[in-house]
Amino acid sequence: MHAFFEATNHYFEHAASILGLSENMKVLLATPERELRVEVAIEMDSGQIGNFIGYRVQHDNARGPFKGGLRYHPTVDEDEARSLASLMTWKTAVVDLPYGGGKGGVNCDVTKLSRAELERITRRFVQQIHDFIGPDKDIPAPDVGTDAQVMAWIMNEYGKYHGHQPAVVTGKPVELHGSLGRESATGHGVAIIAREFLQHTWNRPVEGTTVAVQGFGNVGSFTSRELYDMGAKIVAVSDAYGGVCNPEGLDIPSLQQHVAAHRKVVGFSGGDSCTNEHLLGMEVDVLIPAALGGVFDAELAEEVQARAIIEAANSPTWPEADEVFHRREIPVVPDIVANAGGVIVSYFEWVQNLQHFRWSIDQIRAEQDRRHVESFAAVFDLARRQGVSLRTAAFVLGIQRVGRAKVLAGI
Ligand code: GLU
Repeated sequence: MHAFFEATNHYFEHAASILGLSENMKVLLATPERELRVEVAIEMDSGQIGNFIGYRVQHDNARGPFKGGLRYHPTVDEDEARSLASLMTWKTAVVDLPYGGGKGGVNCDVTKLSRAELERITRRFVQQIHDFIGPDKDIPAPDVGTDAQVMAWIMNEYGKYHGHQPAVVTGKPVELHGSLGRESATGHGVAIIAREFLQHTWNRPVEGTTVAVQGFGNVGSFTSRELYDMGAKIVAVSDAYGGVCNPEGLDIPSLQQHVAAHRKVVGFSGGDSCTNEHLLGMEVDVLIPAALGGVFDAELAEEVQARAIIEAANSPTWPEADEVFHRREIPVVPDIVANAGGVIVSYFEWVQNLQHFRWSIDQIRAEQDRRHVESFAAVFDLARRQGVSLRTAAFVLGIQRVGRAKVLAGI
């Protein structure tokens, strides 16, 4: 049995040791500040009682309010929330946002819930945690299984207790205090990071690069589309039901239309069907896991034929697999660098809410891209200088910034 928090702490520990941090400092930085576990009981449409458990882990706020998504999924538990909250702390630090890290969610299966049940779960969850969140305390956002509608319910329910404050949550609908470019922000960011990676590492453009994407949800679909628009050849994509591949490259706009109509990629006429396992073992320039965590174990890592991996999902790589990739000289752009686009544009949404002013999409993309370009260059340079992996370099950079903020503020 693997533990996500243990895996994240493994990466943390390795980087913290390179930095020569004391044992006490390591414990201080690794331990979550606060963990909430709440009952989320609702009335189901059937009239039965629905029993759910919600979590919010507030990992660190040395650099600013806790920040991170809410996940609605059957895998949600303390361990997953702790690990994802910790990753948010290092992610916001690496891209230099004035935030800490947090994460949470509700253990539930959204595919089996009606819209009304989803709304009741969300409102009940907010009733249980509203005193612990707020625009200057902890700012939730979407993650797997949640979307702009869920964020709108959170904003509305929070307002009943604390007054109307849109900045309590990000990823809201554009028509309701949301930001332009937020929905596609993570996928856009992954594409920009892919461009920077290809240029820095192999001095080659995105154009003509072969890519396989695992996952076609919010992150995978926008990542595929952006890379397609930049001239990449997306040779395979998959979702929970299976995959489609085409060595000549898939027509992603048509595939998006197919998915809008059928809710899955399987059955798309512009390619052959393939399995997820096949996709993960394909010979491509770039393999992009964009679904759930825990995809690569040591065994699968030995079978990967991709030349590089860009982690659009959080925690797709177990530490043993990371070592295999390192030994096989397959570079891995870690989640905390590759998928930071979501929280970057969340930050812009929060700023716009506090300013009561809407930015244009051009301004958002220019500011977002600049942050990706700068953070990638900083991590890449550090990795080169210290002879470490991109993941270790990213953790070193993040830990350094958080540790410095803690020391400056005083414990
Ligand atoms: N859930 C996203 C992540 O893992 C976005 C978090 C946010 O916008 O606060 O980075």
